[in-house]
Amino acid sequence: MDLESIECVSSSDGMDEDEIHPHHHSEFPSTKPRNGGANNNNSVGPNAITPATSVHELLECPVCTNSMYPPIHQCHNGHTLCSTCKTRVHNRCPTCRQELGDIRCLALEKVAESLELPCKYYSLGCPEISPYYSKLKHETVCNFRPYSCPYAGSECSVVGDIPFLVAHLRDDHKVDMHTGCTFNHRYVKSNPREVENATWMLTVFHCFGQYFCLHFEAFQLGMAPVYMAFLRFMGDENEARNYSYSLEVGANGRKLIWEGTPRSVRDSHRKVRDSHDGLIIQRNMALFFSGGDRKELKLRVTGRIWKEQQNPDGGVCIPNLCS
Ligand SMILES: [Zn+2]
Ligand SMILES: [Zn+2]
Ligand SMILES: [Zn+2]
Ligand SMILES: [Zn+2]
Repeated sequence: MDLESIECVSSSDGMDEDEIHPHHHSEFPSTKPRNGGANNNNSVGPNAITPATSVHELLECPVCTNSMYPPIHQCHNGHTLCSTCKTRVHNRCPTCRQELGDIRCLALEKVAESLELPCKYYSLGCPEISPYYSKLKHETVCNFRPYSCPYAGSECSVVGDIPFLVAHLRDDHKVDMHTGCTFNHRYVKSNPREVENATWMLTVFHCFGQYFCLHFEAFQLGMAPVYMAFLRFMGDENEARNYSYSLEVGANGRKLIWEGTPRSVRDSHRKVRDSHDGLIIQRNMALFFSGGDRKELKLRVTGRIWKEQQNPDGGVCIPNLCS
């Protein structure tokens, strides 16, 4: 993975996300008219002078220089601008200062829709090239799209690839990091009567060259307070299916065992929790396992992560069903 291409985007500043095409900008550095009108061959590679060049230039917003996509607007004199800029120019054409009105440029919109464009995660390695609307659709499921921070306790808007997020969890969220595929954790809470949705913990495990998030939390399941532990895989779902994990909690000769497939961190923490895809411990049971006087929660959760045998068909089936 190319570390330099990781973005760390905060949600308040996402305005340009859809429209940045560094790829295009390097290929078509400027729309400023040059003398003679012809583009010169200045160091832009073999495809620089193609009919597409001028179309791309036409589709460059003269105000912000991002590529324009529908809706594309124009003034009475035919000056075009992108929809983002239109909201910013207070109904004045930035080129001729005339009143802008509400005129769409359908011809240019049609051109924009027909153009083949690279996926916006091109710089992260995606080779996909498709027309505008397919491109938008693809980008919502693109395997190269950055992951969201898996930390559950706050509204963290950091995104990036897995190595970046691992460093972010360790440095910014102070998450515990463990190496190895077995674990033995004690969760202690002094007042188990206070079960709040916000009570949770995250530990990151590193094994098989991959990273896994172990979540442990207390929440209300209907009226009943419960504890839940589950594992998420830091990667895509089809890769997550190559792994399995087990969790065990118990005391006094009783134990609960959960065995499952880790969910991808593409699935939000809340989604996994709400689908009950993990080890769920009723509070009475949790207090029983804690021993003592039921005033303190003391759960020992042990677990193991293992790699399933590689499925020759490429890992599309669920390991539990095909082993
Ligand atoms: Zn613009
Ligand atoms: Zn104008
Ligand atoms: Zn893509
Ligand atoms: Zn975060």
